[in-house]
Amino acid sequence: MEHVDYLVVGAGLFGAVFAHEAKKAGKSVMVIDRRPQVAGNVYTEEVEGINVHKYGAHIFHTNNKEVWDYVGQFAEFNRYTNSPVANYHGELYSLPFNMYTFNKMWGVVTPKEAEERIAQQREEAGITEPKNLEEQAISLVGTDIYEKLIKGYTQKQWGRPCTELPAFIIKRLPVRLTFDNNYFNALYQGIPMGGYTKMVERMLDGIEVRLDTDYLKDREQWNAMADRIVYTGAIDEYFDFALGNLEFRSVRFETEVLDMPNFQGNAVINYTDAETPYTRIIEHKFFEFGTQEKTVISREYSSEWKPGDEPYYPVNDEKNGTLYEQYRALAEKEEKVLFGGRLGEYKYYDMDKVIERALEVCREELV
Ligand code: UDP
Repeated sequence: MEHVDYLVVGAGLFGAVFAHEAKKAGKSVMVIDRRPQVAGNVYTEEVEGINVHKYGAHIFHTNNKEVWDYVGQFAEFNRYTNSPVANYHGELYSLPFNMYTFNKMWGVVTPKEAEERIAQQREEAGITEPKNLEEQAISLVGTDIYEKLIKGYTQKQWGRPCTELPAFIIKRLPVRLTFDNNYFNALYQGIPMGGYTKMVERMLDGIEVRLDTDYLKDREQWNAMADRIVYTGAIDEYFDFALGNLEFRSVRFETEVLDMPNFQGNAVINYTDAETPYTRIIEHKFFEFGTQEKTVISREYSSEWKPGDEPYYPVNDEKNGTLYEQYRALAEKEEKVLFGGRLGEYKYYDMDKVIERALEVCREELV
């Protein structure tokens, strides 16, 4: 077997960026992935001429110009701006929480009126220092919005009551006293035209990639052929779950091709009540302003991860945080191996942050 400087385990964003940079730095590199395709969870697959986000909707957004320019080398990004709509028992609200949302919820017209309404509800709830997601949400937007737009959705997504979830999760969601429906505060946003898979393939251009190849099954053999391993799989699985398993939320998609051009009129509609079993419906064509005659939709169901499922969201609570630190201590003793990415670092990473981190690691490693 040939010998390489770097064996990258996992062809997702972290692995692809690392591999690209390693090659550029004159190193020999090989990428392996146990899935039959590259691109990790940003993988897109063409169905009826529509790029379907197979592992859930991914909307690229960043404040980091370096990262934006970086991905720009591999794809042209369109002007897609995420503005999901919330459906609460058939009542529609604008997201993120903004003047349209407040007007629909309370009939308020000015930012001052909205602010007063939120302040009043916050005061009635008597929260000074939010200790969990419920308290954080109420202190940000008041009880009405919490009850209709946050509580049911969050409990479905995380499978736990909002009182048992960390406050930081909800801080991802902006609250605006303007009529801006842009879900993200980021300076740069868009979808790579032609799909994420093509973008990742370009990153991996000229690099040997072996698919359907499971590192953990033959790790002795792989370790023998590389000086360094960049491992982007789950850190607990690397250690055979020796300290117990880290918890993840998994997601299941029911995808359908519909014989109509427009099912819901938006790429993302969140079902925020507790009764609808799915969290959201994605209509993929709208990420790229598609005009196809058919449409593809995915209903997204959230579930607790169990061995054999795909891990999606790390549950970054205290218990799992402590367990992760124990795994990380073990990882630091693996001199040949570098752990990276959402699964390797057990972190609820956005795409831009994964790339930022990968570039940082490259700067330290590829000298
Ligand atoms: N969230 C909510 N209602 C919504 C959308 C989001 O309460 O309609 C909360 C929920 O707690 C969720 C968090 O905001 O876990 C982050 O949501 P986001 O859509 O940013 O998550 P992702 O797109 O990463 O799944």
